[in-house]
Amino acid sequence: MKTIAVIGGGASGLMAAAMSADLGAKVLLFEKNEIPGRKLSASGNGRGNVTNRRMELSCYHSEDMERLSALFPSFSSGEALSYLRRLGILFHDRNGYIYPRTDRAQDITDALLLHLKEMSGLVNIITPAEASGVCFENNRFRIDYKSAGSPDSSETAYADSVILCCGGLAAPQLGADESGCGIAESFGHHLTRRRPALTYLTVHDSFVKTAAGVRAAAEVKLVLPDGKIESCPDAVGEVQFTKNAVSGIPVFQISRRAGEILDSGRPLCISVDLLPELDRDAFERIVTSKIECGENINITEWLLGLVHPKLTALAAAECGITAENKIRKLSPELRKRVLLSLRDLRFSVSGYGGYRDAQVTAGGVKLSEITDLYESRLQKNLYITGELLDVDGICGGYNLTFAMNSGLIAAKHAAAVSDSDSK
Ligand SMILES: Cc1cc2nc3c(=O)[nH]c(=O)nc-3n(C[C@H](O)[C@H](O)[C@H](O)COP(=O)(O)OP(=O)(O)OC[C@H]3O[C@@H](n4cnc5c(N)ncnc54)[C@H](O)[C@@H]3O)c2cc1C
Repeated sequence: MKTIAVIGGGASGLMAAAMSADLGAKVLLFEKNEIPGRKLSASGNGRGNVTNRRMELSCYHSEDMERLSALFPSFSSGEALSYLRRLGILFHDRNGYIYPRTDRAQDITDALLLHLKEMSGLVNIITPAEASGVCFENNRFRIDYKSAGSPDSSETAYADSVILCCGGLAAPQLGADESGCGIAESFGHHLTRRRPALTYLTVHDSFVKTAAGVRAAAEVKLVLPDGKIESCPDAVGEVQFTKNAVSGIPVFQISRRAGEILDSGRPLCISVDLLPELDRDAFERIVTSKIECGENINITEWLLGLVHPKLTALAAAECGITAENKIRKLSPELRKRVLLSLRDLRFSVSGYGGYRDAQVTAGGVKLSEITDLYESRLQKNLYITGELLDVDGICGGYNLTFAMNSGLIAAKHAAAVSDSDSK
């Protein structure tokens, strides 16, 4: 009987372990946390946005988009979702975003763990157990790991195949660290530049603190160093302002690109449109009616019901005035400028959130070094899946889709290769 070692019990590893056992392989699942699936259980604010009805290659990033486009059809096919349905999980769709019907990501983790426990004759879940090294010797893999039973010394296990599902560097508080990268590198793999993605942006402008605590519907765009505006179709939703940063899904969506620009040492601004749902005509009607009214009131009162008063203060500050200014003292041109700045609030970006606050890692093991079945091109029977690879998706269920499906695909291949093929 073939033995498959799955290293890392996250979304990808749990899927890989379950599929390997379904196909009759003996599975050793190593997870460094006491409990597997911590990140999966925390995903989507605990609700688990597992996938999205809109599955397009443009929702993913990699340094090697050509390789990613070759992998895309198989990992986006919805197989992982079908698998979870077979385990009894029902899903519901919120505007294309797919969640478990119970809105509990934990249910997915538990269903997978339950399934693995039902196959306890085949599956050995070893926790907490951190794989410290993997090598190929005498036609099999040797896995050195540290467990709770022997924290000071290494234990050893052997397997015919290894599926490396150690995740990326995002959210170290949930178990992420460099160890998976180290194991991949020990087999000669190369990593692309890694940086946190799906994270907040810090801003230079001190006036942002006036709006700290406000959440507002908005669209966020990048203002490139040459002044060109770059929009991302998905960067619309609820933006959160803090005393020195902007956050929320629209910001997450552009954070990867922002990181690239900032890391290249170039200056960057963002433009926040606080009325993203209004088309040009609807906005023009508001401008016309507002310019003609409100003589005895101040700017905050003038824009009551349009945007949060603290955001009105930001728009006024952008025009060099305060929100206490009486409307009658403002020229029609200045009134129009205040209204226009609601659609183009500018902030200069000073940095981005680190791994602790990021949902995913941009960059990882080079895609040119794995086959379409996630097998290493450098070491036969070694597979690499999930966030450890140079693939990251935008917000919306894309990262779990990749992690779970790549785990499934690798396991199907690893378990299908006969023992004699693997030797
Ligand atoms: C707060 C948060 C919310 C998110 N929400 C969503 C969402 O709603 N939708 C979405 O699509 N994506 C979401 N993501 C991203 C998504 O959760 C990850 O991309 C995905 O879980 C990656 O799966 P993975 O199995 O590759 O890695 P992980 O889930 O990180 O699993 C890797 C596992 O390997 C273990 N490990 C690491 N090294 C070793 C070792 N040497 N030995 C043994 N074990 C090891 C780790 O402890 C970990 O459990 C979110 C991420 C975060 C942080």
